[in-house]
Amino acid sequence: MESTKSFYIKSTPEVFDAIVVGSGITGGYAAKELTERGLKTLMVERGRPVEHQVDYIGENRDPWTMPNRGKVDEQVAAEQFPIQRQCYAFDEHTKQFFNNDRDMPYSTPAERPFSWIRGNQLGGKSLMWARQSYRWSDLDFEANLKDGHGTDWPIRYADLAPWYSQVERFIGVSGGKEGLPVLPDGEFLEPFDFNAVELALKAKFDAKYAPARMIMGRTANLRRATAEHQAQGRVQCQARHQCHRGCSFGAYFSTQSATLPAALKTGRLRIATDSIVHSVLYDPKTNRATGVRVIDAETGETREYHARLVMLCASTLGSTAVLLNSTSSAFPTGLANSSGVLGHYLMDHLWAAGADGRIDGFEDEYYYGRRPTAPYIPRFRNVVDQHPAFLRGYALSGGAAREGWGSTAGQAGIGKDYKAMIRKPGSWRFGLHGQGEMLPRFENKVTLHPTQKDKWGMPLLHIDVTHGDNDRKMREDMADTAANILEYLGVKDVRKKMATDEEYPPGLAIHEVGTARMGRDPKTSILNGHNQAHDVPNLFVTDGASMASSAWQNPSLTFMALTVRACAYAVDEMKAGRI
Ligand SMILES: Cc1cc2nc3c(=O)[nH]c(=O)nc-3n(C[C@H](O)[C@H](O)[C@H](O)COP(=O)(O)OP(=O)(O)OC[C@H]3O[C@@H](n4cnc5c(N)ncnc54)[C@H](O)[C@@H]3O)c2cc1C
Repeated sequence: MESTKSFYIKSTPEVFDAIVVGSGITGGYAAKELTERGLKTLMVERGRPVEHQVDYIGENRDPWTMPNRGKVDEQVAAEQFPIQRQCYAFDEHTKQFFNNDRDMPYSTPAERPFSWIRGNQLGGKSLMWARQSYRWSDLDFEANLKDGHGTDWPIRYADLAPWYSQVERFIGVSGGKEGLPVLPDGEFLEPFDFNAVELALKAKFDAKYAPARMIMGRTANLRRATAEHQAQGRVQCQARHQCHRGCSFGAYFSTQSATLPAALKTGRLRIATDSIVHSVLYDPKTNRATGVRVIDAETGETREYHARLVMLCASTLGSTAVLLNSTSSAFPTGLANSSGVLGHYLMDHLWAAGADGRIDGFEDEYYYGRRPTAPYIPRFRNVVDQHPAFLRGYALSGGAAREGWGSTAGQAGIGKDYKAMIRKPGSWRFGLHGQGEMLPRFENKVTLHPTQKDKWGMPLLHIDVTHGDNDRKMREDMADTAANILEYLGVKDVRKKMATDEEYPPGLAIHEVGTARMGRDPKTSILNGHNQAHDVPNLFVTDGASMASSAWQNPSLTFMALTVRACAYAVDEMKAGRI
C-alpha cells in the first residue's frame, strides 16, 4: 500500500461532504464507502498513524529475539496497562496497539469492574481482532420482540443479507457452507482444515447432537486471495498465527490492509490523526450536525472540522462518549438524546465458561503450520426447545492441539530438560468454551463522570455494568454443557472452567455493544433502521453503539454490514437533498 503520509491534514477551512470519526473496523469501512460514492471525506482519528507493513514492529520476531521473550515487562504492564494486560492478545509483540491505561483512565463502581480493551491508533482494533465473522439470523433480530427484553430491532435479516454479502466478498471470509438456519451461509472462501483429532470428534458430535454441528470457524483471513483481494495488494494467509502483530501480507482484514487503501485510491479521503473528537458541532437553527470539535492529542489545542454529514464510528463506548459530551440547550443530556436512553443498555458477550481435557491416542497424528481459526459449534440452545433456566443462546468454540512442541517457544524453561521437552510432542488436549448473549438491561449504562477528567480535559467515562440472573444461568449452562459434550466424546480428565466476574469482568469479551441503540420508536431509541439519529438527520452512528441486542455471534461483521448499508442510505439522502 502506498504511504498514507500525503493524505494527512491538521487545520483546514475546507467544508467536507462527510466526517467519519474513528478509523477502526467501522470507520475504515465508512471512509471507503463514502469516498467511493463520491463524497469528499475526512477521517478523524484520536490515535497516531500506523503505516501498513512499516509499523508492524512485532511482526516476524521470534520470542528469543525479544527482550523478554514476548512477555511485557511486569512493571510496565502493571503501571501502564493494568486493564489491557488482561486481554489474551496483549504481549511484547502487540503492546504498541493497546491503549495506555495510565493516559486514558475511566471509572467504574469499586465493586463492579468492567475491562475496557481499546486500540487507539489509525486502524483501531482492526489490527488486533481475532477475525471471527458470523452473520446473524432472524432468530437474533426477532429475539427482543419475542421475549420482550430490549426494544424491537427496526430491521430483519433480509434487510442486511445483501450487505453481508458485499462485505464478505471484499474483506475475504473463509468458511464452509453449512445450511444451518441459525447461522446463514455467505460468500465464503474455502474453510481451513480440521486436524485428525477434531475430525474424529466432529464425526461423533454431529452424529449425536444433530441438528447441531461442529463446523470450522469462519474467519476474515484469506484462505485464497481472489483477484479482488490481489488488486488490494493482499495475498493468501501464511498460517503464521501472528495476526495480532499486524500482517504485511494483508492476509487478514484490517483497515490498513483493505478499506484504507480503497478509500485513498479515490483521491477523496483526508486523514486527521492525533485528533480527539471532543464533541459534535450542532446548529439548532437547521437541526443539523455541522462538524466536530477536536483536541490535538499532541499539543492540547482545539480546532474544528466542518462537514455536511457526520458519521460516528469511534467504537461503541467511544461514539457514545462523544454524544454524551455534545450538549446544548436543545440536547442538554447529549446530542440526539431526546429519548433519554443514550448510554443505556450496554452489553458484552458472556465468556470464560467451558471445559477441557485430554485425548488419548492419535500419537502418530501431527499437524503442519498454524491455523487462524478453530472449530465452532453454532448456537443450539433455545432454537427449538426452551431451556427452563434462561433465554437466548450461545456458541461453543475450541479445538484440539498437542501439548509440548511448537507452542513452547514463548514459555518458561531453560536447559536440557526444556530442549528435550520441545522436541517431543505431548498428548492431545481438546476444549470448548462458550460465547453467549447478554440481555439488554436499562441499568447497565455509561455516563460522563461528573468531576474527573483525563489529561486532555475530556470527562472520564463512568461504566456501570453487571451480569443479570439470565446471564449467570447461561454461563453455568455453557460450562456444564461443554463438560457433558467432552465426556460424551471420550475426553479424559475433563475440567470444567468458569471464571468469576472478578476474574473475568464484563468487557473482557471485547464485544461491547449498545448505548445508542437502533429502534422503531424515537421515544425509546437513538437511531432509526438506517443508523440515522432520529433527532438529527445528518448524524449517523454505525458501530456497536447502535445494537439493540448482542446476539451470540462475534459482532464486527454485522457492524460492517450496518455501516455499508448506512453509507449507501446517507449518500442517497444527501443526493435527494433531505440531509
Ligand atoms: C484481541 C481482540 C480480538 C477480537 N476478536 C474479534 C473477533 O474475532 N470477531 C469480532 O467480530 N470482533 C472481535 N473483536 C472486536 C472488534 O475488534 C471490534 O468489534 C471492532 O474493532 C469494533 O470496530 P469499531 O470501528 O467500532 O471500533 P475500533 O476498531 O475500536 O475503532 C474505533 C476507532 O475510533 C477511535 N476513536 C475513539 N474515540 C475517538 C474520539 N473521541 N475521537 C477520534 N477518534 C476516536 C479509536 O482510536 C479507534 O481507532 C476483537 C477485539 C480484540 C481487541
